[in-house]
Amino acid sequence: MKIVFRLLLDAWVVLCVGCAAQRATPATAEASARTPLLLVSIDAYRYDYIERGFSPTLAMLARHGVQAASMQPSFPSLTFPNHYTIVTGLRPNHHGIVNNTMFDPRLGKFSLGNRKAVSDGRWWDEGTPIWETADQHGLRTATMFWPGSEADIHGHHPDYWKPYDGSVSVDQRVDQILAWLDLPAGQRPTFLTLYFDAVDHAGHTYGPDTPQVDAALRETDAALARLVRGLRHRRLFDRINMIVLADHGMAGALLQNSVMIDRLVPLDRLQTVSLGVLAGFNPKDASTRAHRDFAAIEHTLEQPQSHMRCWDKTRVPARFHYGSNPRIPQLLCLADVGWRITTTAHVDSHKGKISLGQHGYDNADPSMQALFVAHGPAFRVGAKVPAFPNVDVYPLMTHLLGIPAAANDGDYDAVEGMLKPGAR
Ligand SMILES: [Zn+2]
Repeated sequence: MKIVFRLLLDAWVVLCVGCAAQRATPATAEASARTPLLLVSIDAYRYDYIERGFSPTLAMLARHGVQAASMQPSFPSLTFPNHYTIVTGLRPNHHGIVNNTMFDPRLGKFSLGNRKAVSDGRWWDEGTPIWETADQHGLRTATMFWPGSEADIHGHHPDYWKPYDGSVSVDQRVDQILAWLDLPAGQRPTFLTLYFDAVDHAGHTYGPDTPQVDAALRETDAALARLVRGLRHRRLFDRINMIVLADHGMAGALLQNSVMIDRLVPLDRLQTVSLGVLAGFNPKDASTRAHRDFAAIEHTLEQPQSHMRCWDKTRVPARFHYGSNPRIPQLLCLADVGWRITTTAHVDSHKGKISLGQHGYDNADPSMQALFVAHGPAFRVGAKVPAFPNVDVYPLMTHLLGIPAAANDGDYDAVEGMLKPGAR
């Protein structure tokens, strides 16, 4: 199996040498000499998981680098919205990936498993991902999975990228990063991403405070250890800037903590865009009748409800920075932490398969706060920094790469303190 992968990998690298040669703008020698930046996402690694003692490599990186008390996700605290925030510096309301499940009158439906939608650049083009700007400044980029990397956004993919495939092992993901770093100067990427999802899967299936999550923490840390060994072997460990972070945290959600929204309002008179932690609804169609039904249902749901709050999108609390994007449904219902919004039919048909861990909640809740650790020549050693919002990661990364930042919601000044004085 290992040999087969090695062969595939080699063939793929050879193919990409071909692609590189055809590029219109060759990477300059100056650009390829820049310190590489590796952005690692451990999906749903809550800020406090590191204290469980199952992440010795991560703890070592924190000890010799920078650790934030936590990092605040953007609202909603969901995977696709936050991964795209991290690489654009834009809040979901501004970059257009407003949920994992969306409806756009022009583009139709978007969901995580819908490869056609996920790879359609029109869903993503309100944002400018960092790999696009890096490319325009002569840097090569490589993504070992990242939401958005599969799409042709403004005519750009990362130079090297992979369609998401959950069956690719964590070791294979790490080995691909190392193989990219082994490419000759001129083809070698300066910006790279790496993505791990075992901690998220275990958190959803079993809940955050379980031995299964602990096992996923161990497995992911072993992959990080493999990465560090590989970097040391190449004498790169102290010459690469690494940011290891998460998109959001995880909260336990007992099975019985389900708001059955079909018992509150007649769902057949609405267009249901999403259910779960953040439910979204639109009028069923453009008719006067549908709008009248919608107004009545909205009036009902905006009254105080048990275990959820509902708002017309124009009345969402300002601190969520959410509500003006046309893809956000007109009526939003947000479950209280530990709860989900569902239907009787869904619960009946998914008996035994309901997630016992959830995220997507109020992004100020402690359970939603994410990991942030950074290590490398630009970062201070053994520094603890206060919590900060994840929109600030993007201007930090453009600074590290020495490229201009596209318009964004982040603040470089707020995170500058984690850099050594010479790197500011
Ligand atoms: Zn996630």
